[in-house]
Amino acid sequence: MEYRITLLPGDGIGPEIVSAAVRVLEKIGEIYGHTFHFTTCLMGGCAVDACGEPLPQSTVDACLAADSVLLGAVGGPKWDTLPAAQRPEKGLLGIRAAMGLYTNLRPARLYPALKHACPLRADIVEKGFDLMMVRELTGGIYFGERGRREGKYGPEAYDTEAYSVMEIERIARAAFEAARKRRGDVVSIDKANVLESSRLWRETVHRVAAEYPDVTVTDMLVDNAAMQLVRNPARFDVVVTSNMFGDILSDEASQISGSIGLLPSASLGATRRGLYEPIHGSAPDIAGQNIANPLATILSAAMMLRYAFDLGVEADAIEAAVDQALNDGCRTADIAADLPEGVSPLTCTGMTEAVLARLRA
Ligand code: NAD
Repeated sequence: MEYRITLLPGDGIGPEIVSAAVRVLEKIGEIYGHTFHFTTCLMGGCAVDACGEPLPQSTVDACLAADSVLLGAVGGPKWDTLPAAQRPEKGLLGIRAAMGLYTNLRPARLYPALKHACPLRADIVEKGFDLMMVRELTGGIYFGERGRREGKYGPEAYDTEAYSVMEIERIARAAFEAARKRRGDVVSIDKANVLESSRLWRETVHRVAAEYPDVTVTDMLVDNAAMQLVRNPARFDVVVTSNMFGDILSDEASQISGSIGLLPSASLGATRRGLYEPIHGSAPDIAGQNIANPLATILSAAMMLRYAFDLGVEADAIEAAVDQALNDGCRTADIAADLPEGVSPLTCTGMTEAVLARLRA
């Protein structure tokens, strides 16, 4: 098969980690007989420098024309003082909107080889965990009506949490579909004891659940979910929640897995084409030194194969190669705490080559 992939390396370590993922995709192409056509475009600070805006129209066009998009990261101190419309982050929000991406998938798992990096209690770490957070990305309080007004006690500010049935239905379907590719269990998180929007959320999730009799669904209040994530993360398979609850809980989930350099993500919309990116930022403090951990981006490429192209076997092969590299003791500097004294961590290129060497059909 042939696939067209638009690359948005972005800023900081973005170009280093995206070229690592491209090497892995090319090797997958060789092993499994696929051809990936890559087009590289500007987005973020590099686009501001070259064209005066973070998201040139040519980049939007190339993303919409592609079968999928792989992003590194954008931003850095050089652009921090620019007006809001020219900030690199504006490019990220712009491309999500242009591609109609309303679902954010963030897997978080504990790699057995990296248990030492997990901040949880030993007995919880021993059980491990492997969960998928499904966060609604374009609705709720971040996009609702907001403002300032004169209230009962003087000046006040307000933000509005509003969800339509359509928005809840489509994110629920994304969660149930993801569960079918995993262990078939969904926990829907809300605050239905207080919020009307959560009561509609709960009703709607259960109505959609009837279309997925092979998947189990349980409700959990967000305050309890925040506790359960650190008390018993092994309890979760797929978690589905609103934009704001997902924003907070997905960061909690990423922290308990130990390293930011290992976590991939996918943003999906109505079409299968999506945007795949590591959850970390552009790490300007280590940019250009060839020491960044490329695994989150390599694993984002694996998610692309699974979700955009339905190439589950190929995605499994990448994930197995990453597991194997970690089990064999391969470490970049960010996960090197357990390296024996005198052993240097691998470079970004070195870790990429360790994964390439372990890729097999
Ligand atoms: P960051 O994720 O870039 O870095 C936080 C820390 O983690 C740093 O010490 C960094 O060196 C380290 N780190 C991150 N990724 C790593 C990797 N792959 N390997 C090894 N170490 C890694 O977060 P930050 O410092 O808060 O933000 C830096 C810039 O990135 C800012 O401009 C911010 O706006 C931007 N940002 C972009 C995105 C995105 O593009 N999606 C997301 C978050 C932050």
